[in-house]
Amino acid sequence: MQFKNLKLVDYVVYGRGAFNQLDEILAPRRKDSFPMIFFLDHFFIGKPLASRIPLRGKDKIIYVDVTFEPKTKQVDALAAELKAEFGEVSGIIGIGGGSTMDLAKAVSLMMTNPGSSADYQGWDLVKLPGVFKVGIPTLSGTGAEVSRTTVLTGPVRKLGMNSDFTPFNQIVLDPELTKNAPTNQRFYTGMDCYIHCVESLDGTFINEFSRSYGEKAMDLCRKVFVEKDKWDEESDEQLMMASYAGGMSIAYSQVGVAHAVSYGLSFLLGTKHCIGNCIVMNHLEEFYPAGVKEFKFMVEKNNIEIPTGICANLTEDQFDTMMDVTLGMKPLWENALGKDWETIMTREKLRALYGKL
Ligand code: NAD
Ligand code: ZN
Repeated sequence: MQFKNLKLVDYVVYGRGAFNQLDEILAPRRKDSFPMIFFLDHFFIGKPLASRIPLRGKDKIIYVDVTFEPKTKQVDALAAELKAEFGEVSGIIGIGGGSTMDLAKAVSLMMTNPGSSADYQGWDLVKLPGVFKVGIPTLSGTGAEVSRTTVLTGPVRKLGMNSDFTPFNQIVLDPELTKNAPTNQRFYTGMDCYIHCVESLDGTFINEFSRSYGEKAMDLCRKVFVEKDKWDEESDEQLMMASYAGGMSIAYSQVGVAHAVSYGLSFLLGTKHCIGNCIVMNHLEEFYPAGVKEFKFMVEKNNIEIPTGICANLTEDQFDTMMDVTLGMKPLWENALGKDWETIMTREKLRALYGKL
């Protein structure tokens, strides 16, 4: 048995208002006169958060457009632009949801590694540490703040740059930053965390390390989406820690059926990660009976609409493309269904499942 030697985030600061410490946190990381570059989610254009960023010297805010999930082309262009303008930078700080944090991680790596980010989509292909990088979530759920990957859509595949150099050097967890997230988005991203927990806890790769984080994260999701009737400050705090713990849980186990099937949707149709997982989870009673029952309860209680019929007009060729992508995610299936997963999740069965979405 080969146990995973898990690389973690170097520093974590947590607390309401922790964002105010950013200047102090960055000061010792500044190299000569090279700037800190802040990637700020475009939602915050003209919002008060933008003016709270502690700019010094040549520091720059780049508003990142996250209408679509990050692409290798976008990462390469951002890295090229920074190299052309500044030569080197002291660090990259991603402030936003999972997409902005992933962009910050990927661009940090591409400031030092040669070639295109597409060359590094896979496992342990990144050879050099990137520049100093910081993650500051403004949405809670994906666990991108703690993970060793950055999910990118490239010319041939949608796959992360998974490596020991990928985790952030610093994260700033300030629950105040998530307070204005729209109800639907907050729910979809929060459900990504809930689904991480179900897939980790019900998977064959489960172990006490993952269980201890997964159970806690699931409890916190329940406090927020099952027990309470109204969102409050405490909910922002609870969901932020759920995201962190859920990310820690899957870091030492794996995700499962919802993620595998959702990757197919996202590859073919561009469906976003969190909503895609919700669309699939809605139909997974057979695999996660208790989790799906509770998921449906949360959808109803929180008055959320989950899209249906998104595969209604697809051709058989398109179904085949999605199934090829999905069935290629072997570790996810093995975690979900065990070593004999191929005899359980046959193409016919998967086709029927896609047909229901
Ligand atoms: P997101 O970053 O894609 O943002 C979704 C929307 O919410 C955007 O329109 C954004 O502008 C807006 N937004 C962000 N913060 C807001 C706020 N406080 N108030 C109002 N609007 C706000 O959303 P997400 O669900 O956090 O992240 C999904 C992304 O994360 C995908 O790209 C997915 O691939 C990635 N992901 C990465 C990992 C990882 O481990 N690296 C894991 C899961 C998902
Ligand atoms: Zn996820």
